[in-house]
Amino acid sequence: MSAFVTPCFIYLDNNATTQVASEVFEAMRPFFRNQFGNPSSMHTCGGVVAKLLDQSRESVAQILGAEPSEVVFTSGGTESDNFAIRGVLDANPDKKHIVTTRVEHPGVLNLCRHLKRHGYDVTELEVDGDGNLDMDRYRASLREDTAIVSVMWANNETGVIFPVEEMARIASARGITFHTDAVQAVGKIPIDLGKSAIDLLSLSGHKLHGPKGIGAITIRRGTRIRPLIYGGHQERGRRPGTENVPGIVGLGRAAALAMEHMTDENTRVKAMRDRLEKSLLDAIPRTKVNGNRDQRLPNTTNISFEFIEGEAILLRMNELKIAASSGSACTSGSLEPSHVLRAMGVPFTMIHGSVRFSFSRYNDDSQVDLVIEKFPGIVEALRAISPYWSDSQA
Ligand code: PLP
Repeated sequence: MSAFVTPCFIYLDNNATTQVASEVFEAMRPFFRNQFGNPSSMHTCGGVVAKLLDQSRESVAQILGAEPSEVVFTSGGTESDNFAIRGVLDANPDKKHIVTTRVEHPGVLNLCRHLKRHGYDVTELEVDGDGNLDMDRYRASLREDTAIVSVMWANNETGVIFPVEEMARIASARGITFHTDAVQAVGKIPIDLGKSAIDLLSLSGHKLHGPKGIGAITIRRGTRIRPLIYGGHQERGRRPGTENVPGIVGLGRAAALAMEHMTDENTRVKAMRDRLEKSLLDAIPRTKVNGNRDQRLPNTTNISFEFIEGEAILLRMNELKIAASSGSACTSGSLEPSHVLRAMGVPFTMIHGSVRFSFSRYNDDSQVDLVIEKFPGIVEALRAISPYWSDSQA
């Protein structure tokens, strides 16, 4: 079962990206050379490929409980997020208000902040110390001129799950379009769009053992939305441009595999996450889990180790060939400490020492054993040279 991106690496950074499953890779391979036809062509070379695109669309629809006709392939989560928000605003020019949250992925948050600079009114809902939203405040934020609500299904940093189905019902009752960025949720928790009022959903291939640069958006029939880009007739004009055939085939296979592994994700993977979390909390003082532990993705834990730098922890872990990520500056690819942990009011001494461990089905118990064995020593060594730690002990 176990496989690593880099030989010998214990890869616990699966919310950043995942290894392409070997079945996915094999499914994609023919489409780079032998089956290179353009799905729009009249001849057989194209027709064969077009059929496989339809099969992939069905697989993606199935994992979401959507209709295949509602699935539109895109280049990934960021494009799907932009398509949802910009497309709805474009189709509803009289409505200038957007509701979102302070803890969204930059694919939503930076777009909303850009739109704010261009005349839109944006409400960013606050979260509490556990990363939860206040539903009364949410209800109160909705207005006559609200064009769209965009709220993520699960947070990429903490794994906290928002009640998006309930939020979508509330928006729908007010005639407001509801979008969810489900990039981290798809494949990890059950989703049934057929039973929900969610109008638009974003997903991304590389978070579920599919390839990078492919994703999808679901568009519920009847949703008022315009394309993000204009061109040919592909994806029924909703997302023009010659299709990324290997990517789409890979995403379809990845979605089918994720369905098969959903139980494993919510039992074995969750048990590994829980064991690591409990062991680190028991072994290391001044340590805290960030986010609501009951409403969380089964694969994610975000833990703060007070008075040390996340970067330093990650570097020591890297030397031991353990990959994870941090909510502090630089290592997360940005200059600012995590906007998610800041929005939750996590103190700076805790934000800086935060580490996110995110599992996948390719992890196993022997890897957890090794992290449990090595990690306390890393924290102890770093605290021994931390002036903040010695001050706190004085
Ligand atoms: N939304 C969330 C919650 C994510 O975690 C990510 C990726 O980190 C994205 C959107 C962006 O997806 P992509 O990398 O496919 O553009």
